[in-house]
Amino acid sequence: MKIYIMTDCEGVAGVLNSRDWGHADGRYYDLAKELLTQEVNAAIAGFAAAGADEFLVCDGHGPGAINPVLLDERAELLRGLVNGYPYEMDKTFDAVAWVGQHAMSRTPQAHLAHTGSMRKFEYTVNGLPVGEFGQVAMCASELGVPAVFGSGDRAFCAEAQALVQGIETVEVKRGTKLGRGDDCDAEQYAARNVGAIHLHPVRAREKIRIGAERALRRFQQEKFGIIPLQPPYEMIKRFRALGDQPPAMVKARHPSSVIALFQNIPVDPPAAVKPARPHPAKKVGKKGRMAVRKK
Ligand SMILES: [Zn+2]
Repeated sequence: MKIYIMTDCEGVAGVLNSRDWGHADGRYYDLAKELLTQEVNAAIAGFAAAGADEFLVCDGHGPGAINPVLLDERAELLRGLVNGYPYEMDKTFDAVAWVGQHAMSRTPQAHLAHTGSMRKFEYTVNGLPVGEFGQVAMCASELGVPAVFGSGDRAFCAEAQALVQGIETVEVKRGTKLGRGDDCDAEQYAARNVGAIHLHPVRAREKIRIGAERALRRFQQEKFGIIPLQPPYEMIKRFRALGDQPPAMVKARHPSSVIALFQNIPVDPPAAVKPARPHPAKKVGKKGRMAVRKK
């Protein structure tokens, strides 16, 4: 069995905030990479115990969060998501799993919640709010690859179970900040969901190993993990204010493919046009015409 493992940094036990742990110049960035990689190895150990023998680990965190040296040598590592969705996933995979995943923007009690970046307010597909997990899970469902396992904070686990019936989840921490943060601009939202209660990393890995094995064994008995998708698809992305950029929205449709929809909708809104200033007086040349620069 061949497993695709999507990974992220913010849903890992012991990753305490984004600034110090998730940024390439953060003081605990290297430690965060080690913590994520060990959680991924725990999932691989669990899947292998249930019969999996091929693993593609996708490093999905912005600046990267897998340490290739520490990664289980049975796995191949994908880094550089140059082709967009579905991130080199195809029909040859038997299942897809998530490690270190966080919940979508606006989720209460969700540690470091966001969708792509802190500017995103909400993404919906056919009216249903989706986060990073939901987008990849929908691509996988279109390819016929079942979503069987996910680990991250408690809010992520609830999000995964609400979208994918039967998915096995493992909670490694729980966010403490109440409310959705709907009044925040991007900067305020980034500073918001920083409270959580974490399991010890060793305990988190043990839970992940057991959960991953259970997921794959259960999957071989009772099929689950495919989202019933209903074309046509409409996606709406709403954005928070950022600096001098006001809140914004983009919308796209596709008659038959969520993958094509995610590939084609803009990642960011077009920059808002600055309020028009009065034209400076035109300089007029000696002959009474504007000078024309030749190419
Ligand atoms: Zn993420």
